[in-house]
Amino acid sequence: MLSKMIVEPYSQNLRCEMNRCSRKGNWAIGREGGPKAARTIWCDDCLRSITYACMKALPDDYREELLAAIGLKLEEEKASNAKVEELERQIADAQAEILKSSLVSAGVVRKPAAKKPVQRKPSVKNEGTKAKAGAKK
Ligand SMILES: [Zn+2]
Repeated sequence: MLSKMIVEPYSQNLRCEMNRCSRKGNWAIGREGGPKAARTIWCDDCLRSITYACMKALPDDYREELLAAIGLKLEEEKASNAKVEELERQIADAQAEILKSSLVSAGVVRKPAAKKPVQRKPSVKNEGTKAKAGAKK
C-alpha cells in the first residue's frame, strides 16, 4: 500500500507550482517518508481552493466521514483548551498566593490591614449567635 499523503508547512523560497500561479509557496504536499524533491509546492490560495474542490467532489459518505472527523477534533480541541485555561487560572491564583505569603513572611508587606475589620465582625456575630443560642435554650 502506498504511504499516506501529507501536507506540511513550507518556508523556503519556491513559488506555488500550480498552473498559472506564482504566489509564494506555503505548503509542501507529498507522500509520508517520500523524497522532498518529489513534493509539490502550493500557496495558501491554491491549497484552500483544492480543499474546497475535494470536499465538493468526494462521495457523500466519505465527505460526511471527513466532516465528522474534523468536527470531532475541533470539539476535542475546544474542550482541552477550556481545561488548559482553567488550569492556568488555578496556577496563576496559586502563584499569587505564594507571592503574597512570601512577601508577608519576608516583611516586605504587612498582613493586609483589611483583615482586621473582617476579624472583628465575626466576634460581633459570635456574640449575637451566642445570645440567640442562649435564648433558644
Ligand atoms: Zn498557488
